Amino acid sequence: MVLLAHCILNPNAKVAGIAQTPGAIPGIVAGLLRDGVGIIQLPCPEQTFGGSRRWGMSREQYDTPQFRRHCDTLLEGVVDQTEDYLRNGYRVLGIVGVDGSPSCGVERTCAGYTGGEIASMRLFPECFTIEGRGVFLERLMSMLHERGLLIPAVGMNEALQEVLSWDELLKKLSHCDGSAVRT
Ligand code: SF4
Repeated sequence: MVLLAHCILNPNAKVAGIAQTPGAIPGIVAGLLRDGVGIIQLPCPEQTFGGSRRWGMSREQYDTPQFRRHCDTLLEGVVDQTEDYLRNGYRVLGIVGVDGSPSCGVERTCAGYTGGEIASMRLFPECFTIEGRGVFLERLMSMLHERGLLIPAVGMNEALQEVLSWDELLKKLSHCDGSAVRT
């Protein structure tokens, strides 16, 4: 089985207007169905925190005790479930996040906005991506590590959605051992 970021299956969870597909990302889902891989859909930490009318925010804004606690609450059951599967002989191929996301980025996350009045463009410089994990993925990897579970994680590149495939992600997962916890 594989753990997928929520919006890979349901892009409606994204900040309004930025989803690139109306439904699940076909290239990823088609490959999973073809290979008979079980899919665990992770919860969307942002939609369950700020709702569908939230603004796009940066990692700095989500990196708060409140949001981390929200992530931990959402993840507790997922981590329990994953541990139980692994201890009973099931194979978890990996975790697929969304690179560039302040929450679900694996290799890259989003930085730039640190606070202030949203209507003032002066205080809202262009956001940019930097190396590092999003807050939710960081918490997930850390909670798995605390239980001694090493699961590889890779990020889907949103800009390449049309050419994205499960085969490519699987190749990336096979080169990753899940041992590096990065922020
Ligand atoms: S927080 Fe994660 S699951 Fe939710 S929309 Fe952003 S990338 Fe997708």
